[in-house]
Order: sequence, then structure tokens, then C-alpha cells
Amino acid sequence: MPAITNHMPTKELQALDAAHHIHPFTDANELAESGARIITRAEGVTLTDSEGNQIMDAMSGLWCVNIGYGRQELVDAAARQMQELPFYNTFFMTSHVPVIALSAKLAELAPGTLNHVFYSSSGSEANDTNIRIVRHYWASKGKPEKTVMIARKNGYHGSTLGGGSLGGMAPMHSQGVPVIPGIVHIDQPHWWNEGGDMTPEEFGLERARQLEAKILELGEDNVAAFIGEPIQGAGGVVIPPSTYWPEIQRICDKYEILLIADEVICGFGRTGSWFGSQTMGIRPDIMTIAKGLTSGYIPMGGSLVSDEIANTLAAAGDFNHGYTYSGHPVAAAVALENLRILQEEKLVERVHDDVGPYLAKQWATLLDHPLVGEANSVGLMGTLALTPGKAKRAKFAGKEGAVGLRCRTRCFANGLVMRHVGDRMIIAPPLVITHAEIDTLVERARKSLDETYEGLLKDGLFKAA
Ligand SMILES: *Cc1c(COP(=O)(O)O)cnc(C)c1O
Repeated sequence: MPAITNHMPTKELQALDAAHHIHPFTDANELAESGARIITRAEGVTLTDSEGNQIMDAMSGLWCVNIGYGRQELVDAAARQMQELPFYNTFFMTSHVPVIALSAKLAELAPGTLNHVFYSSSGSEANDTNIRIVRHYWASKGKPEKTVMIARKNGYHGSTLGGGSLGGMAPMHSQGVPVIPGIVHIDQPHWWNEGGDMTPEEFGLERARQLEAKILELGEDNVAAFIGEPIQGAGGVVIPPSTYWPEIQRICDKYEILLIADEVICGFGRTGSWFGSQTMGIRPDIMTIAKGLTSGYIPMGGSLVSDEIANTLAAAGDFNHGYTYSGHPVAAAVALENLRILQEEKLVERVHDDVGPYLAKQWATLLDHPLVGEANSVGLMGTLALTPGKAKRAKFAGKEGAVGLRCRTRCFANGLVMRHVGDRMIIAPPLVITHAEIDTLVERARKSLDETYEGLLKDGLFKAA
């Protein structure tokens, strides 16, 4: 077989890819038919594909490349660590300098008493760990019946058996999850889709109080924890009404339910604070971290837990849980360098004071478009609701998501990666994006919306259900 390189014709690369590579969250027949887009290089916020096209990545890969592509400092940190100590484990009373330094750094950055980290290689694994931690914690406190975890429909917590069970994604729930007993789901605070005639504030309270009703139904002695993303990412950048999180916090406090904030997307500056919990006013007992922790340059995740939880686990003796790569030295070195850059270049403050407000202003200009019913953002997470009738928050006739998919296709053609979730368009660009690049992003989004709208009119599909 000839060497497979960037210089191979795209068609041949696509054929080999379709022949031997099973892709995540992808229809294999569709892939074989149209071929994958093959990304070969990236710099800043811009991808290059095998055909030489330049595409602005308004999704930071999968919400993770917070400091942007092409940062040599992370490459050097990985190379140095690989030379010095490429691997050693953290089982059985051993440690190493990068993991010690990273843990101390995370304790400094995290709010409250979240001063202790258990490491994984992904967000999914970290949420699996959270299930173990939470149940072991309550058992160690003499309350072994407190096992049930309450999560939300359309929440995303990863794709392992644990993460997929905690998650509330309907398409996943028809394929092998949930399998973990003792996980229940309440409704999401998605006002645009589900708020009916309520004001957002009324609706936020109503959805939060479903948690209280569920705790009372199950009995507080049986409920271990509630888990939620401060702002749902994969579910469509669902920004909850302002009343939602304070009420959730009150309920968790009242019934002694641990609160887990899944910060895999919201963490590390995305919302304009170090963690989404700070932006939304949440005091979590556990935070799930991954993605922006290393800006995606290398896999790493973790669970940040409170003094109270760490002390309780410590008093209980061995915690019989761990991954070969927990606290991997190369990943820890890259994470440390990434955090240094976020801190020294004041990228979190930049999102809060500068590019976040600028994006909000420019993004909101799309609201005058005939397809757009809602154009919101928090920090550098943005969302557009596509609708055939703004006043009634109408849904399109036909299959949900068909219009969103049309729009995403137009975005790609116009040099912009914008994702669709149903008929909602979402963005989460790298934190280093400039004002000029935000202007380009919004211009390309508008052009794509125009073309989508024209296409719908032409095909007679601009109709409400
Ligand atoms: C991506 C994501 C996960 C899963 O992380 P992986 O690294 O893909 O396993 C978990 N929670 C949230 C909120 C995520 O966005």
C-alpha cells in the first residue's frame, strides 16, 4: 500500500476512510456516498481542508480549542514532557510533578472548596467517575440508600454507558442507554421550544420545581445528586431563564442533594468566567471538566470535588476506581501550559469584557432576518432559533432539523463551521477570535441564512407545522 499522506487525492482518502473508519455520530451510508471533509491544517480560528479551502471554525472543533489552533507553546510542553517522563501512573502511592502542579493550579482557579481533582481522559469518563464518587460518598456517610441521580432530558454528559445514561438525548436512548439503574430525567429549561404561554421567568421556576417534585416523589433519602450543564451545549446552547439555577440551588441545599455542574463546555472561559457555574450563580459540589482544560490538544478530563467530599472519601479508605491514564503526565503538562496562556493572556477577562459583548451585539443583528426568531449568546456561546413564525415561536412543517441541516450546508459552502441542533444554529468560536473575525463570522452566517431562506421559498417549505 502506498504511504497515506496529505498529498493523496481527496477522493482516495475519502474512500479509504469510508472503507475502514467507523465515525462517531455519523450515518455510514451517507459518509460513503458523499465522503468526509478532510481537514489537514489549522491556525488561529481557521481550518484548511484537503482541497485547500479555508473555513472559519466557529465551533472550536468540538467546543474545545479555546486558545485557538497552532499554539507552539503547547507543542513544546508536550515534547519536553515526553522526553523527560512520557508516562507514569498515579496508582499505588506514586505521583509526578506535572499532575501535582496541575491539581494545585485547578484548586486555585476553581470556586468554593473545589480543591481536589480525580483525572480521566475525557468528559464521559469523568461523569462515570462522578457516579462512583457520589454513591461511594453517601455510602461512606452511612446513607447507602442515597443512590438516585436526577438529570435532564436533552442534557449531554458523554457517550460511555454512564455518561449516556446521565444524558437525556433521545436518539442515544434508542441505542443501548440508559443502562445504569437509578438515573431519572426531568424536563429541560428550554423556553423557546417548551415554554408555551409562560414568561421565561415563570417557566424557569416551573422547570426547576420539577426537581423538587421528583425528590419528594422518590424520597430525599434515596436521592444522591442532581447533574446539569450550566448552559446546555450539545442540546442546542439552551440558555436557561434567570430564575432557573437559583431555584435549583435552593432545592439541592434544602434536601441535601449533591449538585454536579457539568462544565465540560462551559469551563475555562467559554461563558466569560473561569467556570459556567460562576456566570450562572451555581455553587456546585462537583464539577466535570474536559475539553477546554487542554484546549483539545490532548485528551484529558476530570472531576473537581469539594473538601467535604474529598475528606469523606479519604476517611473511607481505598477508592477502588481509576484509569491507566488518570493524570497522564503529558496531558497534565499540556493542560498546565494551556491554563498559563489563558491566565497570562487574560483570555477569560477578554471574553467577559470585550469579545463576548462584541459577539452579542453583532449576533443580535441577525434577529431582523426573516428566518431568525431568537439570537442569543453568553460569552462565546451563541444560538439562533430558525422559525417560520417569530411571534408564535412556530416550528417548521416537515421533519424537525431539515431546515437546520440546509443552513449548516450553506454555512460550509460559505466557509463557516456552524452546527445545527434540530432547527437551531449554534456557535462556540475559539476565545482568541478577533472583532474582524466576528464580523466575518456574522457576515457568512447572514449570507447562509439568506441562501437557506431563498431555498425554502423556492421549494415551498417556508411553512409552519
Ligand atoms: C462533550 C461533553 C461531554 C463528554 O466529553 P467527552 O470528552 O466527549 O467524553 C460531557 N459533558 C458535556 C457537557 C459535554 O459537552
